[in-house]
Formats: sequence, C-alpha cells, structure tokens
Amino acid sequence: MAPRHGVIVFYDERMLAHFPDTNAEFLPGRLDKRVRSILSGLYIPWKYPEHPGRITAIMDLLAREPIEGVSIEPGKAATMDQLSRVHTKSFLDDIFSLRDQSAWLDVDTTAVSPGSVQAAEVAAGTAIAAVEAVIEGRAGSAFAVVRPPGHHAEPVRARGFCLFNNVAIAAAHAQDVLGCKRVLIVDWDAHHGNGTQDIFWADPNVLFFDIHRAAPFYPGTGALTDVGAGRGEGTTVNVPMPGGACDIAYLKAMREILVPAADYFQPDLVLVSAGFDAHWFDLALNVSYEGFAAMTGVVQQIANKHCHGRLAMILEGGYNIESLSRGVHSVLKVLAGATPDEPKMCGLEEVEAAITFHKGAFDANGPEQ
Ligand SMILES: [Zn+2]
Repeated sequence: MAPRHGVIVFYDERMLAHFPDTNAEFLPGRLDKRVRSILSGLYIPWKYPEHPGRITAIMDLLAREPIEGVSIEPGKAATMDQLSRVHTKSFLDDIFSLRDQSAWLDVDTTAVSPGSVQAAEVAAGTAIAAVEAVIEGRAGSAFAVVRPPGHHAEPVRARGFCLFNNVAIAAAHAQDVLGCKRVLIVDWDAHHGNGTQDIFWADPNVLFFDIHRAAPFYPGTGALTDVGAGRGEGTTVNVPMPGGACDIAYLKAMREILVPAADYFQPDLVLVSAGFDAHWFDLALNVSYEGFAAMTGVVQQIANKHCHGRLAMILEGGYNIESLSRGVHSVLKVLAGATPDEPKMCGLEEVEAAITFHKGAFDANGPEQ
C-alpha cells in the first residue's frame, strides 16, 4: 500500500447563496406556469430539497468531531474555459444570463436564485481545486464539499438540481491541463449520473462506473446494456440495483466489476461522484455508514494500485442531513487512514447471538415433566 498523506476538504461559503425560494419573483413564462401547476397539486408544501443546510451540516459535524489528518481549504470559481470543456457555449451563455434572477430550469424543479450562478461556478471550480491538490501531491486525497451537485447536468441541459457537471469538469481539467490520460469516475450516488455518462459516452479515456437504483427511479437512465459507443464502447459500466439493495450487494459489484475494470483500464486519476442518498435514511436503498466506509476502501485500493493513491471525491446528492453528514464523515475517516470494517448483513450478528442465547431453552422432547 502506498504511503498515506493528508486529506484536504475543499469548501466555500459562496455555495450557500444558491437557495431557490418559490415565494420570490421567478422569470415568467411557460415553464413557470407548468412548475407552479405541478407544485400546487402536491399534498405537502414544496421546499427545495437541495438546500444550503446540506453542506453546512457536513462542515458542522467535521468541526464538532475533527479527524486527524483532515484539513480544510477554500474553493474557487471555475472559469468559462474550464466550464466549456463539457458544456456548450450557448448553454453557458443562457445560464450566465440568469445571474441575480430566480428562474426554473427544468420541470423537475431545478431552479436558480440570485446567487446560484456564482455558487455553481464555485462548485465546479472547487471540484477542480480538489483534483489539483491530489495531482500536485499536496494531498493524498481530497473531498470537495460542493453544491449545487453536478452529475445530472448534461452538455446542454441543467436538471436534477444540477447546473454544471462538476465531476466531468474536474476530469476534463485533469486531462487537458494536469497531464492525466485515463480518468476513472466512480458514481455511487443513488441516482444514475446521466450527465456524466452522456459527456463521456464515446470517450475511451474516461471509464465511467455507475451503481444506482434502476429505472424508473430518477432519472430513468443507466441500463445494464448501456456501455458507451464508438471508441468509448466498453468504458461506460452501469450496475442498476433494485430498491433496498444493501452494503453487501454494493461491495460485491465494486469488487467483482469495478476492480477488474480498473485493472484493465489502469487509470492515472480516480474520481468519485460521492452521493449519500443510497443511505437508508433517504428511503431508496439500504447502504450504511459502514458500507460507505468499505466502498471508500475499495476505491482507495484502486487508486493506490494504479495511480499513487490519487483520489478526489466530489459531493453529489444526499438529502437527509444526518446521514449525509455522518456518511461524509465515515468516508473522510477512511481517506485519512482508518481501516474500514467489513459490513455484515444487517441483523445477522444479532440473530446469531440470539440463537446462542436461546439454545437449549426449547428441548425437542417437549416441556420437562
Ligand atoms: Zn442522488
């Protein structure tokens, strides 16, 4: 195993200014009417689920329970050149025209508030900062605590609470500027990373591995048979899972599909689209803190084996504040050097202890006379 170095967490308060509020004045038009008619039909009042409290909760927990070897650095804003490696100029011009306004971007309720465009620039730039830190060797690994998330954003479309595709922008920067030839992106967010898949669909130099809850779960993409196209055929790997899938299934997929794929591909940088909505508190899947820790161990071993431990994680989803912050914390502990425990099937250990406890209580010959 390669020697471990420190972990840098990148965080920037400018990302808190992305805060769509339906009570504000939104740009009028057809999309506004459509979204408001959808919201008015809901049984419970709608609140933007991807809110600033997500990342403050992560940083608050890290302040309350600091981890030895983990330091915090500020992020930075991405430039137009950096963003335009994965998004079209017309898309970026349209998003930039929304500075200081409130507007819907998609019927799925993706929206911008007056601070959102800058927040999105900082999210993408902070993902780049994390990659630079590991390539420069300033950190053994890095974690970009960012929002808005990125993996649903397509070259020409914002959706799924994502404006710019942060992980794709970081991967493209690593290839264009930092000398990386082959980048592995592991996406373990509960939702399929349709945007990232789209961007690198025909690219043989980015291996995209995505384990997610299967369609019709949002966004409905990521079928097993979607493997990329053209020169990129084979460098997209999808593992759709049923609702409620657990740690053991996740780890088996990573060890028996991702690890051999990485051995074949030989990445010189490993990125993780690290969402935490596969935790059972978010009600879609059944991954635990131990599961996230063990999955971190797997990607860390891949990075150690192929690329001197160069590993950067970029935050994606995770909407329950407790499991999001605790999940990130369990990942950071492993990045900083803790050895993860092997997750067990939930409840099995307790049942085995109960079997031992009750052994002999019920004699096969019936009650004693
Ligand atoms: Zn998600």
